[in-house]
Amino acid sequence: MLAPATTDAPSFDVAATASEAYRAALAVIESVEPRVADATRAELADQRSSLKLIASENYASPAVLLTMGTWLSDKYAEGTVGHRFYAGCQNIDTVESLAAEHARELFGAEYAYAQPHSGIDANLVAFWSILAHRVESPELAELGAKNVNDLTDEQWETLRHKFGNQRALGMSLDSGGHLTHGFRPNISGKMFAQRSYGTDPTTQLLDYDQVAAAAREFKPLILIAGYSAYPRRIDFAKMREIADEVGATLMVDMAHFAGLVAGKVFTGNEDPVPHAHIVTSTTHKSLRGPRGGLVLATEEYASSVDRGCPLVLGGPLGHVMAAKAVAFAEARTPAFRTYAQAVADNAQSLADSLKQRGAKLVTDGTDNHLVLIDVTGYGLTGRQAESALLDAGIVTNRNAVPNDPNGAWYTSGVRIGTPALTTRGFGADEFDTVADLIVTVLKGTTPVTASSGQPGKAKYTLTDGLAAATKAASAELLDANPLYPGLQL
Ligand code: PLP
Repeated sequence: MLAPATTDAPSFDVAATASEAYRAALAVIESVEPRVADATRAELADQRSSLKLIASENYASPAVLLTMGTWLSDKYAEGTVGHRFYAGCQNIDTVESLAAEHARELFGAEYAYAQPHSGIDANLVAFWSILAHRVESPELAELGAKNVNDLTDEQWETLRHKFGNQRALGMSLDSGGHLTHGFRPNISGKMFAQRSYGTDPTTQLLDYDQVAAAAREFKPLILIAGYSAYPRRIDFAKMREIADEVGATLMVDMAHFAGLVAGKVFTGNEDPVPHAHIVTSTTHKSLRGPRGGLVLATEEYASSVDRGCPLVLGGPLGHVMAAKAVAFAEARTPAFRTYAQAVADNAQSLADSLKQRGAKLVTDGTDNHLVLIDVTGYGLTGRQAESALLDAGIVTNRNAVPNDPNGAWYTSGVRIGTPALTTRGFGADEFDTVADLIVTVLKGTTPVTASSGQPGKAKYTLTDGLAAATKAASAELLDANPLYPGLQL
């Protein structure tokens, strides 16, 4: 069993050492392309000075960030640990094994695959490995073949067509599902016949009876659970029951809430790992690691997931897998559990504070890390609200609400999340002030009538002085909770 990361405080000043490292790195970058060094410095200044409420973003630790800037990036290592298509991969083997072992320990998974470059890649690996396991393997066995190369062209053509006839059932986009869960603009919607389940029209909560009815009628190969913008927990035991009843593989995309699973805020039926056949994730949202993807699987699916490269991936990113190992080690510490609980507690406080000030929330609240404000009551579209908030230094993103009258581009909602500001040290009091600032900006924003005489969907005006006053109030909160305290470039 792999030991978790040490919980002892380092014997040196981390911030001062990281400052030296970044100053040196930026000087080297500057000598080749100064504009990249400038943009890198500017990004830190921007992140330090804005209220980052994007639910899918966070701030990775200096250890995670520094791990990515190394020569591990320079090595090709297609294949799997110990079975590479390139020579000299022993160090990539080490970091990939560490990332996978830490992930297995962290999530209690039977198998972990750390190669996916992003969340979308993790989902592609999962889809194709399910197809390989459920469609290709039985077919190959029937034809007496060991792998696809043993098939005649004619046999392969027949099998190839069977892949495209499979069905996937996922949460609808306007209920909070993700584009990669079978929607047409994404490859998942082109490779699968897709149907979606929604939420209850009154409560806006996931309706398990509706999911079961859709599954019985549609008989999907894959039942997908997980979301980008649903502010509630899911009962994965119930989802597994539904999947089992119709013979579907249960795939859970925990990209958004992986940090809450890692931090043991979501346990029992709310933890997808004991219930799903395959769990996919990003590593950079609430999990607070490097930008990347991860797949966890039961033993049954392990060998097909392990074929992610060459199934859909090329050379793995050695430097990012190393940073995943560091981030997963961090996530195994008691400090991360405290953080994850604070993320959920803060979301609750934020939701309560918004409601007290009259805001309308999708599902009337939250029990995860995000809140979805329905901004139609302020006469705004999501796009106007997002832009007005940004003018006032509050970074959010617009999002559809269930049955959104404004569609997926303009939308009627604004999604806000607590992972990033919780990393800075914000608690209930700070989030109460954040709620006040948000509601004040929304109330102080007026939509501008379009030339057609109809209310415009994009333009707006802000009450004079409101943006500056909001930025000044935010600055107080941000200064009291600095990002990367002690880090000086
Ligand atoms: N899955 C879910 C649920 C997501 O929210 C996202 C990103 O927002 C992804 C997958 C895709 O992740 P990435 O941007 O790393 O490809």
